[in-house]
Amino acid sequence: MRISNPLLPSVSEGVQVDELALDTEALTITARTTAARAACPQCGRWSARVHSSYWRTLKDLPWQDRSVMWRVKVRRFRCSHCPGRIFAEPVPGLARARAQRSDRLAEAQTDIGMALGGEAGARLSRRLAMPVSGDTVLRLIRRCKSARCSSPRVVGIDDWAWR
Ligand SMILES: [Zn+2]
Repeated sequence: MRISNPLLPSVSEGVQVDELALDTEALTITARTTAARAACPQCGRWSARVHSSYWRTLKDLPWQDRSVMWRVKVRRFRCSHCPGRIFAEPVPGLARARAQRSDRLAEAQTDIGMALGGEAGARLSRRLAMPVSGDTVLRLIRRCKSARCSSPRVVGIDDWAWR
């Protein structure tokens, strides 16, 4: 079933949602990319030569207290200019290459981790239907710090006392 994107305002152009499956714990969104071509990450030139496709799985922000999982059919393209180069297309508006979670989920879990730390952040995140491990929360914080994200927005009195 083709589901129109106007009903799903956070879905970017270039992503077609085909199915929504809801159970008591999770919403699974099945989708595919629709761009006719993709830019080679090595040379930057466009390619429309589809090599193959595969299913990519991505966690996203929760909906109605349920965790959200995307199953996106993504294509690999062959570059006409770089010998032997095959690359996967990005999922526009959703996630960076090789990420296991959407950019918006990573941002939310990073913010929670910045406020609470790894284990407490993971506990709150699970409570909010965004299951994650404490180690992953710490990894997200480290990645954010190396990318020079903004400083923690909330500094509690306990954090102040420890410094
Ligand atoms: Zn290339």
